[in-house]
Amino acid sequence: MTPVFNEKHLLWLHQLLQCQSITPIDDGAQSLIHDFLKEIISNIDTHQAHGIATNNTAYYFNNNQPTLVFAGHTDVVPAGQQEWIANPFQLTRLEDRLIGRGIVDMKGAIICFLAALEHMLQYHPLSCPSIMILLTSNEEGCGTQGLQYLLKDIVVPSPSLVIIGEPSSIDIPGDCIKTGRRGSIHAEVDLKGQPYHVAYAGDYHPLYYIEELVAQLKAIDWDCGIDIPFFAKSSFQITKIQTQECVENVIPASLKLRFNIRYSPATSLDICSNLLDQTLKKYPLQSTTRWRQGATPWRSSITDQDIERLLKAHWAYKGYFSTDGGVSDGYKIAAQLTDRIIELGLSHKSAHQINEWTTLNDLKTLTELYIQLMLKITNRSL
Ligand SMILES: [Zn+2]
Repeated sequence: MTPVFNEKHLLWLHQLLQCQSITPIDDGAQSLIHDFLKEIISNIDTHQAHGIATNNTAYYFNNNQPTLVFAGHTDVVPAGQQEWIANPFQLTRLEDRLIGRGIVDMKGAIICFLAALEHMLQYHPLSCPSIMILLTSNEEGCGTQGLQYLLKDIVVPSPSLVIIGEPSSIDIPGDCIKTGRRGSIHAEVDLKGQPYHVAYAGDYHPLYYIEELVAQLKAIDWDCGIDIPFFAKSSFQITKIQTQECVENVIPASLKLRFNIRYSPATSLDICSNLLDQTLKKYPLQSTTRWRQGATPWRSSITDQDIERLLKAHWAYKGYFSTDGGVSDGYKIAAQLTDRIIELGLSHKSAHQINEWTTLNDLKTLTELYIQLMLKITNRSL
């Protein structure tokens, strides 16, 4: 039996890393994946639902078995101006490290899934589930023309499980699986008073109050005292405080405050908006607020015990389940397709960093985990 993740798959990974698919550009990544799929499956249906500058593609292979969906993104964050040890858009080996932009987030997981599929078709053809692969080039940025375009367009025959290949793991693939995520809302608050000469200052200007206001906002319990099992509490982070440009002896009249709330199902945009309004009312400033709803919170209907039972034999270590971390496309899938979702991918430790890296061992382990899930799905153990 050839290794589940072999030199050919490494070459595929190298070719995929060579696509400079900086979000939301796809740069040929999805058609390259189509070429790889054609090498392992003769009959595959393709559906595309592109956005204005984004690519979204679904590949479907019907094996008259329950359906496993794999959702992934082909876009990566920019490599940045900082020094990489080599061109970030190629596979570089340095001792046991495999380096390249997007290798853990998440081109490596995509190739692991293809390697798992190839193994199933070669060695367990009758036990291979029907497979739907959903790919978008619009996940890392705003995500407004991404997976939702595909999801409203396609019919997936009651999927048994959706695997999102996001780098969910901490040290080794599978040591952490995401079974939900908090939501995300952004607020832009513009505060206004009047300008003053610094030598004759009054208190009707935002800088006079901003320190106290920020302290008050940080002290708010956005969850109103409610704890939701499995979810971390909602968190508040300031992303920008900026006054208008003035000469140095003028106190500016206006200030922009930007913040993000990662929120659990205990709260909502309406509740957060009320809490903010009550706080702003304490200050004699004019204010306008614009809210932007990002991801909504979701929680998988696959239980942690289910997954533990499925993967236990292949876990030498105790995996754990979590809903923390950034947002992913999981909320779109939960809203438009099914909540039978897990996120299982490589280690997130180097994601979005310079010299993003994984190891051949980790790629092999992740491929094995995907194979086990495929086998369990056709056994109808899930
Ligand atoms: Zn990602």
